[in-house]
Amino acid sequence: MSTHMSAARAVGEENVQPPATLTLHRASADPWALAIHGGAGGRILELGEQADYASGLREAHAAGEAVLSGGGSALEACCAAVQSLEENPLFNAGRGAALAKDGRAELDASVMDGASGLAGAVLASQHAKSPVRAARAVMEHTDHVMIVDPPAELVREWSLEVADPEWFVTERRLAQLRRLLDKSESGPRHGTVGAVAFDANGHLAAATSTGGISAQDVGRIGDTPVIGAGTYARDGLAALSCTGEGEAFLRGVEAYDVAARMRYAGCDLPSAVAATIEETLTEKGSSGGLIAVVPTGEMVIAHNSPMMFSAYRDGAEVRVHL
Ligand code: ASP
Repeated sequence: MSTHMSAARAVGEENVQPPATLTLHRASADPWALAIHGGAGGRILELGEQADYASGLREAHAAGEAVLSGGGSALEACCAAVQSLEENPLFNAGRGAALAKDGRAELDASVMDGASGLAGAVLASQHAKSPVRAARAVMEHTDHVMIVDPPAELVREWSLEVADPEWFVTERRLAQLRRLLDKSESGPRHGTVGAVAFDANGHLAAATSTGGISAQDVGRIGDTPVIGAGTYARDGLAALSCTGEGEAFLRGVEAYDVAARMRYAGCDLPSAVAATIEETLTEKGSSGGLIAVVPTGEMVIAHNSPMMFSAYRDGAEVRVHL
């Protein structure tokens, strides 16, 4: 069962974002839960495009759910879902990701495992075919949390696939970059993909992956690989994955802000999410969204951007928002 609600706020001034839209999904009979997103966007999809985006989201959701229904971990479910979106050139992650000003894809990704409290991230990655798998490898094979652009040899050492930097670059993204640089296109330039999951053993996890913001400065890093800003998971509390104007999410420590409201102030998930979006995004004139799950299996998909591509199971159906 899903309900839609709006966080109350004053509207009518110039230049303000719309109130946050929260889609609340209460726990189902399954002993697990999974929500995924394909980015908070400003562009309304044309009819022809909708079917392709919807099937990409369904495919990714199915990849994550196959892990959970087979007794796999929340962490693996998140990685499987995110990797599927990375491999789909429609989404801003992996191949087909947004390009920096110099025409290269600099990919950021992170994972956090609620069970162990460990996390891993890659920044400006150009060699790991799956940035989210590389982020997980940082967590599992090193003593670190973040590594900038793990070189091909290291990626191979982790038994992961290597790709040439050009492999990530698509014609569609190059054309978009040209339009942005010659100023014939403006408007929202972000995207990002992510997943949050709760598994049958009671563990939570989150994963997020992105190319950042189209035509971003070379070397710019957003919120996605920063634990607490773009991604956060803690067993017994919540798992969150964010998307939107990364600088606002960094300043607001968005994902952790929601978790902290729940942990220290005793807020429930929907009210924590609504308050965080209001204070760290809407009041600052910034836009984006997040997905979250708590150990009851309750999920929230929230955004103050015009759109939020996402998918989650509702009883017998997988619901897709475009
Ligand atoms: N948050 C990402 C970044 O700033 C972009 C996005 O989610 O659209 O890099």
